[in-house]
Amino acid sequence: MPKREIEDCQINVLHCENCGTLDPGPRSLCPKCHSAELAEIAVPGAGTLLSWTTIRRPPTAFREEGPYHIAVVDLDAKLRVTARLTAPSPGIAPGARVLCVGTRNDVPVFQEIDA
Ligand SMILES: [Zn+2]
Repeated sequence: MPKREIEDCQINVLHCENCGTLDPGPRSLCPKCHSAELAEIAVPGAGTLLSWTTIRRPPTAFREEGPYHIAVVDLDAKLRVTARLTAPSPGIAPGARVLCVGTRNDVPVFQEIDA
């Protein structure tokens, strides 16, 4: 995947103006200091795969989309997010590098990056 796309892809998260905590949101109070001073900022959409699973029997709202993949990703920005994962390779494993390639239903969509 071209490096340009890695730099272009960003994810909107909440930044606590009081203590600096990053949170994927949505929420109205900082989970660490309980401040309401949360601002939305964009962080780079590159990270490392922690885990993933395949949803074969989706909830009603997403029934037409199944099966699809859900992943937990540790962003390079030091923040953990739950996201969609596109077409994981048979050999994908925790620790794989992934990149945000867009959003679906306001959820980031990640794709495995070829090593
Ligand atoms: Zn805070």
